[in-house]
Amino acid sequence: MSVAANTIPLLSRVVGYSVAIANNAGRIIRDIMKKGELGIVEKESAQDLQTEADRAAQRSIITSLQKCFPKSTIIGEEGEDEVNDLSGQVFDPSSDSSSSSSISSINCPPQLTTVAEEELVIWVDPLDGTAEYTQAHECRISGHLGVCKTLGLSCESLLDHVTVLIGIASGGKAVGGVIHQPYYNYQNPGAELGRTIWGIVGGSVGGMPIVAPPEGKVIVTTTRSHSSSTVNDAVAAVSPTEVLRVGGAGHKVMLLLEGKAHVYVFASPGCKKWDTCAPQAILEAAGGVLTDIKGNPIPYHATVAHRNSTGVLASAMGQDHQAFLAKIPLHVKDNLKA
Ligand code: AMP
Ligand code: MG
Ligand code: MG
Repeated sequence: MSVAANTIPLLSRVVGYSVAIANNAGRIIRDIMKKGELGIVEKESAQDLQTEADRAAQRSIITSLQKCFPKSTIIGEEGEDEVNDLSGQVFDPSSDSSSSSSISSINCPPQLTTVAEEELVIWVDPLDGTAEYTQAHECRISGHLGVCKTLGLSCESLLDHVTVLIGIASGGKAVGGVIHQPYYNYQNPGAELGRTIWGIVGGSVGGMPIVAPPEGKVIVTTTRSHSSSTVNDAVAAVSPTEVLRVGGAGHKVMLLLEGKAHVYVFASPGCKKWDTCAPQAILEAAGGVLTDIKGNPIPYHATVAHRNSTGVLASAMGQDHQAFLAKIPLHVKDNLKA
């Protein structure tokens, strides 16, 4: 191993290696779309899809994490079969010189330097924004250019909604995370595709500049493919000056980190722990807050229910999280039961 493993805190190593492992998953996701055989399967409903990219990315991430951190608990979205199937393309992050040299810049606060490997629970969403990934593919093969008549937006822009999420929890709290955007830079032919953002709560954030959202506006981001009357009531209640309906929990938190939105409102039980763990850790490392829609912390113990049944509310740095929570109507809060 090229990193001085015993001088760098474990959490910094897990985050640093997860950056390299997520970058590799991004290559798998791009390759599968390029080849065009998505192998789409419906999970709980037609709004809940899985593709070969979700499966292959998860196999690779889990196999690689298991190899590096065999004592940690790893929970992936795509179910037991893929979690137990360690035949994934192993990516050895210690062979990636860019990731190993940058691990020393991943600051871990003193209270997290003693965390042991067996205490970590790693939540993996191998591809967040699957609905948008499949729609972008459909758009590509039907040869749509510019603004798609069916979707009302540029088909290519849906690629921005796709992320790879690796969240790290300790003591039931999100403490570290990685968000990889496999298609970042898709508008610039010839530029290297993809970027990865990482963070440790109380430590450092890296991979892109963090920007505060503009004053005098309330830009809300929420789901574009899992709406309901409760979701819409909650959005309307915070009196938005603009609503960005985009895919993926990872992408929505990226909008908060980039200063493009003030608050992410999702009053629905559809989001899971692997959707929120990584985004929450990075957002909180950057000075933001993520709770359920009632203001309670989201627990990330290994045995916790996977579903975030009481919704999600996340605010960008510098925003008054309590003020947003206070605006969510009681009937919306009561509708979401733990
Ligand atoms: P969205 O904001 O709709 O892109 O959802 C964010 C994450 O939560 C994605 O991983 C979705 O798959 C998941 N999600 C949200 N609502 C549902 C739902 N009703 N059924 C299944 N997954 C959902
Ligand atoms: Mg997801
Ligand atoms: Mg997913």
